[in-house]
Amino acid sequence: MGTFSVALILLIGVLPNAAQAAEGMTYAQAQTRIPKRDLPDFWVGDLGKLASHLASVKRGAAKAICVTPGGRPVHLVSYGDKETVAHLANYNSAIGAREPSAYMDKTARKKPVVFFVGPVHGHEVEALTGLVNLMQILETGRDLRGKDQTSLRQLGDRCRILIIPTGNPDGVARFEPRTLWGMTGQDLRFWGQGTWKDDTLCGWPQVKRQHPMAGDNVGFLGCYFDDAGVNPMHDEFFAPMGPEAPAILKVAREEGPDLVVSLHSHESTPALLRPAYVPAEVQQDIRSLAEEYYALLDKRNLPHDSPFEVRAEGGKSPESFNLTSALHHICGAGSFTFECPHGLRDGCQVAFEQILDIQLTLYEAMLRHELDKKK
Ligand SMILES: [Zn+2]
Repeated sequence: MGTFSVALILLIGVLPNAAQAAEGMTYAQAQTRIPKRDLPDFWVGDLGKLASHLASVKRGAAKAICVTPGGRPVHLVSYGDKETVAHLANYNSAIGAREPSAYMDKTARKKPVVFFVGPVHGHEVEALTGLVNLMQILETGRDLRGKDQTSLRQLGDRCRILIIPTGNPDGVARFEPRTLWGMTGQDLRFWGQGTWKDDTLCGWPQVKRQHPMAGDNVGFLGCYFDDAGVNPMHDEFFAPMGPEAPAILKVAREEGPDLVVSLHSHESTPALLRPAYVPAEVQQDIRSLAEEYYALLDKRNLPHDSPFEVRAEGGKSPESFNLTSALHHICGAGSFTFECPHGLRDGCQVAFEQILDIQLTLYEAMLRHELDKKK
C-alpha cells in the first residue's frame, strides 16, 4: 500500500460522502482535472490537427463520406488502386448461393484490401493518432516522430488501404483533454460515457441503456456519442439512427475488404476482442492474427492481453450485434474490435510513444496477415 492509498483511506474516513462523491463529477470539476502538459508533436487529439494532415494527403485520396449531426465531415483516405472484380449479389445473398465470390471475387484481386475504421468513440484518440501517423508513413515513409518506417510503408504499398481517421468527429470535438494519458478511470468515465443531469457518471455498460442519449435527463454528453446522442458502435443497423455507421458500412459494402478493424481504447492492455456473431472460421482467423500481433508486441517489449477463445454465442449476457459484427455481415471481411490502452495512471501504464508503437505494430500485423494469404 503506498502513501497515496493511505491518504485516500484517511480522506474517505473524514468525508462520509466520499464514495458517493466519487460517482459524480461536474463539467467544471472535469475541466480542472485536466493536467497541464505538453503533448508530443506526433499526438493527434483534435480535429484541427487532423484537418491539416488531411489537407496534405497527396499519394492517397481523401474524401468526405458523410456529415455528422454536428455538421462535421467524416473522411475516408485511401491508398492503392481499387481492383475491379465482378459483383453479382450483395454479401448475404452470395452466401445463400453458397458462392461468396458472387458478392466479390476477392481471390482474383492481386492486393489485399485492409480497412481501418478509426475511433467511433471520440475520446479514444489513440487510434486517431495511430492512423494519422499511418497516413504520414504512407505519404513519406516516416511517422510523425520522424522515425523511419520504410518497411511498414512497403507493406502498405502492397495493399489497398482504407482509413477513416475518426468515425465520430462530433465526439472528438467534445473531448477537451485531447488524451486521457496520466488521468484516471473516473476521468475516462466522465469524458467517455458522460453524466446524467444530476452530475452522476453514466458509467459502463449502463451508459448503453438509453439510446440515443438525448433528453432532459442527460448532463454532459459523453464522447461515445455524436451530437444527436448516437453511439455508432450500437446504431440500429437495419434502420439507422445516425449517419456515421451507415457511411462506414457503405465503404465496406463497396470495397469488400479482406480485413477490417474497429479501433477503440480502454483502461487495460492491448486486446483483440473476439468478434461476435461471425462464423467460427472467422473467429479462428482473427485469433491467429491476435497470436501474431502479440508475438510482435513481445519482441518490442510492449504489453498485451492473451488470445481470446473461439466460441459460439450464448449465456446469460450474450454479446451485442455491434458495428464489428455488422461489418462482417455486409462484406464478409475478417472483422474485429481492437482496444488500446489510454495510458491511465490507474490502468495499463504506457508512454505516449508506446501507444503509437502499439498502434503501428497492429497495422503491421494486419497487413502481414493478409499479404501472407496472397502468397
Ligand atoms: Zn470504444
